[in-house]
Amino acid sequence: MMLVLSSPSGAGKSTLARNLLRDREEDGRLTLSVSVTTRARRGSEIDGVDYRFLTARQFEQMRDRGELLEWAQVHGNFYGTPKDTVDQALESGLDVLFDIDWQGARQIREAVPQDVVSIFVLPPSAAELRQRLERRAEDAPEVIANRLTNASTELERWGEYDYVIVNDDLQRAYGGLKAIVVAERLRRERLTGLADFIATLQAGL
Ligand code: ADP
Ligand code: 5GP
Repeated sequence: MMLVLSSPSGAGKSTLARNLLRDREEDGRLTLSVSVTTRARRGSEIDGVDYRFLTARQFEQMRDRGELLEWAQVHGNFYGTPKDTVDQALESGLDVLFDIDWQGARQIREAVPQDVVSIFVLPPSAAELRQRLERRAEDAPEVIANRLTNASTELERWGEYDYVIVNDDLQRAYGGLKAIVVAERLRRERLTGLADFIATLQAGL
């Protein structure tokens, strides 16, 4: 399963993603796709963990060599998903979590429609979105202003997603995210080895 989380900047998708990756019940069944970006590193971010930070030239080389599953320009910087880590994770049976924008979600959906589960995260209000970006205190005022301007058009993409979560109370929103993951994993077409299991049950009757 490829679990895609998108939202306007500051709605809380990275927080929800982090909670899911830390969830003990997940027990290593889920891995984060670490994107590459030309954006400057924030004070709290670690290269290779939150993103791989690249120069514009390095990014172009990866893109032109076809090493990105998807890429997009967002808020004036380039972001992309390296193909190799996603392929390796899926081959070893892990689900992969993507924190990417609507342009990337669209490209991944087109590439592998059957495997994508997409979730759009909304803030409870415009005022709270603004406050969260300010409280996060990692971006310059003009960067925050630009992200708030872009939020309005990003919000129009909600109709392209399978699920929508309003991130008001974090625990409640996280409960919704967890419920989606649990239910999607129980989809019949995702349950491997079911025919053998049924045969074993029948043999015992
Ligand atoms: P995004 O990844 O969507 O840009 P973040 O996950 O970085 O957003 O969240 C933006 C800020 O809002 C962070 O400071 C985070 O701690 C805070 N935040 C996230 N979810 C909530 C919530 N439900 N209630 C209050 N603050 C939240
Ligand atoms: P931020 O700069 O706040 O980390 O991210 C800005 C936006 O870029 C967010 O909407 C985030 O989801 C998106 N983003 C991060 N990585 C990728 C990526 O690899 N591809 C795409 N298309 N968007 C990304």
